[in-house]
Amino acid sequence: MDFKLTEEQRILQESARRLAEEKFAAKAFTWEERGEYPWENAKILAEHGFTGITIAEEDGGQGATLFDAVLVLEQISQVCPHTGDIVQATNFGAIRQLSIYGSKDLKARILPPLLRGERLITLGMSEPNAGSAATDLRTKARVEGEEVVINGSKIFNSNGSHAHCFAVWVRFGDDVRTSGAVLVERDSPGFSQGKVERHMSGEPHCMLYFDECRVPKENVLLWEDGFTRLMPVFNIERTGNATRSLALGQAAFDRAVKHAKERIQFDRPLCEFQGLQWKFADMRIKLDAARLLLYRAVVNASDGKPSAVEISIAKAFCNQAGFEVANEALQILGGYGYSREFPLEYMVRRTRGWMIAGGSIEMMKNRIAEGIFERRFSQRPPKPKK
Ligand SMILES: Cc1cc2nc3c(=O)[nH]c(=O)nc-3n(C[C@H](O)[C@H](O)[C@H](O)COP(=O)(O)OP(=O)(O)OC[C@H]3O[C@@H](n4cnc5c(N)ncnc54)[C@H](O)[C@@H]3O)c2cc1C
Repeated sequence: MDFKLTEEQRILQESARRLAEEKFAAKAFTWEERGEYPWENAKILAEHGFTGITIAEEDGGQGATLFDAVLVLEQISQVCPHTGDIVQATNFGAIRQLSIYGSKDLKARILPPLLRGERLITLGMSEPNAGSAATDLRTKARVEGEEVVINGSKIFNSNGSHAHCFAVWVRFGDDVRTSGAVLVERDSPGFSQGKVERHMSGEPHCMLYFDECRVPKENVLLWEDGFTRLMPVFNIERTGNATRSLALGQAAFDRAVKHAKERIQFDRPLCEFQGLQWKFADMRIKLDAARLLLYRAVVNASDGKPSAVEISIAKAFCNQAGFEVANEALQILGGYGYSREFPLEYMVRRTRGWMIAGGSIEMMKNRIAEGIFERRFSQRPPKPKK
């Protein structure tokens, strides 16, 4: 076992950091107020080969490993979280459902502008009555000639208002085994977007509506067994979610360290107070443990897909650690931490969301328990005995 990065991995990490410092740092933490998607940064990422890192070269990606993508995401998110979201969208999110399950023709049509950072794909999974119980989704799809017709709605679609297309999880029949996924483009007849709302982080989200929405049959990503086949890919999305939690926790920690060296109270720098030193030690323990768990899940990923239990452990721990460290760092900055003039309060708000998004911490723990006891625990009420 070797805990050191290879020479190539260090160079990749350093080049991602340098690019972020040079190109993204100046406008970092301004994107929430502007309410814009950082398209200019998306194009810069594409030019530097930081989109489609794990996507096969024949599909226009870089053909590199999931670990490479994590190293890039971690560095960029620490400097500019909103640009980190683009790394997520172009490497870990719905784009992977398209690159893994889309037909050759569909990929040739949809992937190139996504990889050039000119377009965005988001995930339409959650529904008003199907959150943690995602298998309860009700959005229906049926085939009519050469088209698929979709009816239903999706909720909490992050950045949906900026997106050009959506990977929409549907049911083709009544049974959960008929669940699949379809790519819907914004201009498809019968598609509409609801009012733009905001997560606590300021990130826009919206409802997606499908009213006899028609797309070509070739847009189908998966016809059946959706949950069995989409979940391993969704674990890639969770990897990106965990990485960004860790990155923001680390960024908050670094700011708190700097502040504790410079800020003088009672004629001494804050770092000389033991009560604060122990907070720093606890934060460092959490960040190191989170990183080790994340890297384990990613390095062990077979075929680029992390194991369900290892990623559940990593996601739950990174989400918790990222939020707790950001929150403690805010405390150490005192009034400056709480002020909206500085980024600490944003980091607390942002890390909070990842404890819910992409499978909540509680759902991750349910999955870990299944791994421990080597059996499935249905979350549904027991059926009455006959
Ligand atoms: C920041 C953010 C971004 C998001 N982006 C997207 C997106 O782009 N696309 C998309 O489709 N969805 C998105 N979501 C939705 C997200 O996937 C859901 O919020 C999440 O799956 C939880 O569902 P819910 O909100 O309906 O909560 P519920 O499922 O109603 O759960 C409520 C609470 O009960 C707990 N709970 C539920 N069931 C159990 C159980 N069996 N055991 C223990 N605890 C349980 C949950 O952990 C939670 O704390 C996003 C959410 C957030 C916060």
